[in-house]
Amino acid sequence: MRVTLLGTGDTTGTPTVGCECDTCQRARTLAVERTRFSVHVENERTGESLLVDFSPDFRHQFLREDVPLPDAGIITHIHFDHLDGLGNAFRLFDDLPVYAADEVDPETGKSVAETVSQDYHYLQALTVEPVVSLEPVSICGLEVTFVPVDHPPLLCYGLAIEDPETGAKCSLTGDTSYAVPERSRAVLAEPDLLLADAIVPAHCCSRHPIGGRHETSDGVPRTFGTKHMTREGALELAADLGADQTRLVHVAHYYPADEAFEEPLAIDGEQYEL
Ligand SMILES: [Zn+2]
Ligand SMILES: [Zn+2]
Ligand SMILES: [Zn+2]
Repeated sequence: MRVTLLGTGDTTGTPTVGCECDTCQRARTLAVERTRFSVHVENERTGESLLVDFSPDFRHQFLREDVPLPDAGIITHIHFDHLDGLGNAFRLFDDLPVYAADEVDPETGKSVAETVSQDYHYLQALTVEPVVSLEPVSICGLEVTFVPVDHPPLLCYGLAIEDPETGAKCSLTGDTSYAVPERSRAVLAEPDLLLADAIVPAHCCSRHPIGGRHETSDGVPRTFGTKHMTREGALELAADLGADQTRLVHVAHYYPADEAFEEPLAIDGEQYEL
């Protein structure tokens, strides 16, 4: 399994358009970027690939990285930075199955699968495949399990992606607070590679209008606001899951410049062979 991090940024990306902060300046100097979230997973046994989330930066990401167009896609949730690149599928694909959860979201009255099929009804190539969470489904020869995470007010899913032949496993937390349910943690556990939402370091919580949540016994918030993990929360989750290797993703430009490019924060273009 070859995993390529196409987009490792939050919803504004790094550098952020029009931003002159030290972190965005440093990214320009280092010639690195964190575009909006997307992960490419290639099954080297079958030659098929799977795209997790369709970034608004889809075109740029595929021109920049030497990876094949996907044979199937997954949408974790309906936020702009994960879904709105799907329009790029127009004329690029003859037939693209897109997998998304079938559970009705009380916030929208629709499942992620229904939102995707309604928003992109004009794309003939698209077939939306509704998925039941916590039940493995076979995609591109890989065993994929959607797991509910905590990203209020919307339903959102993390993913466990396993090669049934080699046992290689990549887990993604999805956009989530630290309050990942136990049943989901059990499915995500013991990955070779964990991609964990770590939008900001915990010290940034003082800048959030409602601060942080899910504090450690030392008072360190593991959740930024209500929707995302802090760096500290993501690292604790990684330890809890027993991840072999962890990359922090969905990273915002609010990390101070001297912390923003430290390990284990990911940048675009990283590739892992599992
Ligand atoms: Zn900035
Ligand atoms: Zn989100
Ligand atoms: Zn997001």
